[in-house]
Amino acid sequence: RRVAALRMAETAEATEEAAVEDGEERFEFQAEVGRVMDIIINSLYSNRDVFLRELISNSADACDKKRFLAVTDSGADEGGSDDDPEYRIRVRADKDAKTLIIEDSGVGMTKDELKNNLGRIAESGTANFMEAIKNGETDVSLIGQFGVGFYSAFLVADKVTVYTRSCQTPDAPQYKWESQQSNSYSIKEDQSDQLEGSGTRIVLHLKEDSEEYLDDFKIKELSTRYSEFISFPIEVWAEKT
Ligand code: ADP
Ligand code: MG
Repeated sequence: RRVAALRMAETAEATEEAAVEDGEERFEFQAEVGRVMDIIINSLYSNRDVFLRELISNSADACDKKRFLAVTDSGADEGGSDDDPEYRIRVRADKDAKTLIIEDSGVGMTKDELKNNLGRIAESGTANFMEAIKNGETDVSLIGQFGVGFYSAFLVADKVTVYTRSCQTPDAPQYKWESQQSNSYSIKEDQSDQLEGSGTRIVLHLKEDSEEYLDDFKIKELSTRYSEFISFPIEVWAEKT
């Protein structure tokens, strides 16, 4: 715990300096986020696999939302022809960079949505999660029910980078969100490595003790297990080095 607090202080200092650079803005996490992240990391360490279930289910939710918008608002989804595999989820390991990447062609997020969805926790989510933890319920199967699933990324990653473009603002730039599990995160417009249309790419910079998630067999096995209730295709591959 103390080590974590120290590390947090260090990163906060280091990142403040970076904040002046090319349009990058830095924001504080809502206080509850820090607490929830600490709890997740301390109580779910031996069940780290669940991070992939949470991120895949967020990607599936994002595809669902885009499909919903496409049928209710014809203006929302102009890209892609009918025979395009329009809604898909990709899980990819980059062994050189030691990153695991979860990418979807879903609804994406605007800059405001990034701040609201990945910088805070829905009121009910926090209260219910904290209550369950107080009652000693650290059952991993529950984590997705509290609206805190995204933060389980920090079970295996010491840095999480999110690239996203909203299907509701197709002309807006792609945004890059990044956090090192300190008390803050950054957002900037991103020109590199553009997503094809709308969607979200989550890059997990794996901790040293989580490099098993670079293994093709491991991520295929987990993706298959967690794809059971997912109605979109999940492509999994590992880049050979
Ligand atoms: P929940 O999924 O229960 O709402 P999470 O912590 O898993 O809680 O995710 C928080 C929010 O972040 C989601 O509700 C969604 O708005 C946003 N989000 C997370 N992942 C994605 C994604 N891949 N695409 C679009 N939005 C996302
Ligand atoms: Mg979720």
